[in-house]
Amino acid sequence: MEHKRPDISIVVPCYNEEESLPLFLRELERVAEQMRQTDDLTFEVVLIDDGSTDGTLATMKREAQRLPAHFTVRWASFSRNFGKEAALYAGLSHATGELVATMDADMQDPPSLLPEMYRIITTEDVDNVATRRTTREGEPPIRSLFARMFYKLINKISKADIVDGARDFRLMKRPMVDAILSMREYNRFSKGIYGWVGFKTRWLPYVNVNRVAGETKWSFFSLLLYSIDGIVAFSTVPLSIASVAGTLLCIVAFFALIFIIVRALLFGDPVDGWPSLASIIIFIGGIQLLCLGIMGQYLAKTYLETKHRPLYIVRESNLDE
Ligand code: UDP
Ligand code: MG
Repeated sequence: MEHKRPDISIVVPCYNEEESLPLFLRELERVAEQMRQTDDLTFEVVLIDDGSTDGTLATMKREAQRLPAHFTVRWASFSRNFGKEAALYAGLSHATGELVATMDADMQDPPSLLPEMYRIITTEDVDNVATRRTTREGEPPIRSLFARMFYKLINKISKADIVDGARDFRLMKRPMVDAILSMREYNRFSKGIYGWVGFKTRWLPYVNVNRVAGETKWSFFSLLLYSIDGIVAFSTVPLSIASVAGTLLCIVAFFALIFIIVRALLFGDPVDGWPSLASIIIFIGGIQLLCLGIMGQYLAKTYLETKHRPLYIVRESNLDE
């Protein structure tokens, strides 16, 4: 059977979601059926198994057999865990629909919002409908605090408009999908990529829901590393810290020098004050190491980018059928 272009592709990255995935697909199927009846829409689901260690792949295969023809399931399974960003990229590049949605498998992105998103994207002059959660309820306070600080900081120092509380749940038109696919960088930070490509976005706020099953794969530490990735990927401002700090220190040193010379001329040259000297040396050494570290971060990312490694490797899939 020849593959007919579906109206809407739904891209779902899955990492150890054997419990959530069937629940999610059931719900998605219900919504899709409803939209088929009202707007005569056909759907395609692109499931990406991001190297799961549980029965996620088996579940995908089973669901692909079960679901009806107007709701095609296409799946690919990675050779190992490449991360959600890589899974999203893989899904987007294999999605064939004129409209493409990206969703999580854990029901935190409720499929019931899809009809509303579809209505907006077809009636209003926008290129994508994106969702934003309105509260950070149920999240540890310290995590919320750091998240807020991160969004304030990155928006100050980067050109990409990165929205606090934005989820990766979006419905996009084809040109925007192609723009995202044209960004082939290895170090992917999708919140920044969405902001960077531009296009007209309509935000749809909704109240945060908890995942149906399983656990989040994000620890505080992994989020912290991810935020550093985001900053390095979308801003070069940290690189100028060295120049700014260096200039400031030169100015301070200049006045200190004049002060010391004048003092020595007026009052002679008593040799003491080594503790202050030691602190100054340690302070400046610290700043130098900090700046070197920042440069190292960028260098490391540049190194990875220049290798042009594939973003992901597929072990098994039904994409060519
Ligand atoms: N995910 C993935 N690869 C990973 C981690 C997560 O494909 O390495 C998927 C996961 O299966 C889910 C989505 O990305 O569909 C969001 O993950 P999670 O719910 O853990 O993140 P949170 O909602 O807590 O931000
Ligand atoms: Mg989740």
